[in-house]
Amino acid sequence: MSTPLFNHITIIGPGLIGSSILRRIQKDRSIAKTSTAYDIDPKVCDRVRVLKIADQVVNDPEEAVQTADCVVLSVPVGAMGSVTKEITPYMKKGSILIDTGSTKASVINAIKPYLTENMTYVPSHPMAGTEFSGPDAGYDTLFENHWCLLTPTEDSTPESIEKITKFWQMMGANIRCLEVKHHDKVCAIISHLPHLLAFTICNTVNHLSEETRTEVLDYAAPSFRDFTRIASSDPTMWRDVFINNRKALLEMLARFTEDTQAMAKAIRWQDGEYITDTIVQARKIRKSIVDDK
Ligand code: NAP
Repeated sequence: MSTPLFNHITIIGPGLIGSSILRRIQKDRSIAKTSTAYDIDPKVCDRVRVLKIADQVVNDPEEAVQTADCVVLSVPVGAMGSVTKEITPYMKKGSILIDTGSTKASVINAIKPYLTENMTYVPSHPMAGTEFSGPDAGYDTLFENHWCLLTPTEDSTPESIEKITKFWQMMGANIRCLEVKHHDKVCAIISHLPHLLAFTICNTVNHLSEETRTEVLDYAAPSFRDFTRIASSDPTMWRDVFINNRKALLEMLARFTEDTQAMAKAIRWQDGEYITDTIVQARKIRKSIVDDK
């Protein structure tokens, strides 16, 4: 067998994303010879042991990282800074730290103060996921044919960027490097705003009178079910994403609100041409997204 990309990888937070990485490593040992998992929640550690998706599961962050040559942080974005503070004093010389956080400026700012000269850091964001969370939700093909966006900083050496590019390619992903602010703006419109709308529309239903609400829930049309699938997503993860990418998200929400108001005006004035044009344009965009897949 050829030399694996990494000798030893540690996953901190083996939930949906982390457990998918572990499963892929089990399937393809040219990614890493051995893997370790650590989670703040002992129940998650126990579950990972039962699932047998890591070579070693430990309940101590120091023990988790000390022999790893790559450490992956797949915890909610609001926990990235505190976890980094706990582990970096114990990371070995020449190791690489990566995160999988959905927001990048806030995560980089949270991690940066705790980096040591022992390590390099490559921020990354796999653009793959589901509405489920926890170690049972992961699967080894989660990243297959999805984008993984890297936002290197001055703490990312060319060698570490090359290695992490290879790592995500071995996970099945396609790679792009983006500037940090641009990443956060793009993700605000394509991922964070849709989640905000899905959570909100479910609550709008909830605020309706008892009689109407029951009917809506009973007769929920496929369109409502499709549109709200992502409202089943994890509250902690999305609370953290909204708060940590608030500037870009609020800007996109303001633009969306303007467009919604324009549509409302067209409906009030029965401006069929505006309504048709908007729908025709939207269909084109939707088609280009689906055709790109
Ligand atoms: P998840 O399934 O909820 O897994 C996160 C795990 O991290 C949980 O087991 C959690 O434990 C654990 N954790 C929380 N704080 C910790 C700490 N301080 N130390 C160690 N472990 C800790 O979440 P996920 O969906 O895999 O998301 C992980 C990261 O990937 C997030 O930053 C998210 O923004 C990003 N991401 C998610 C998606 C997606 O669609 N889900 C897509 C791309 C990127 P508890 O069970 O105790 O909370």
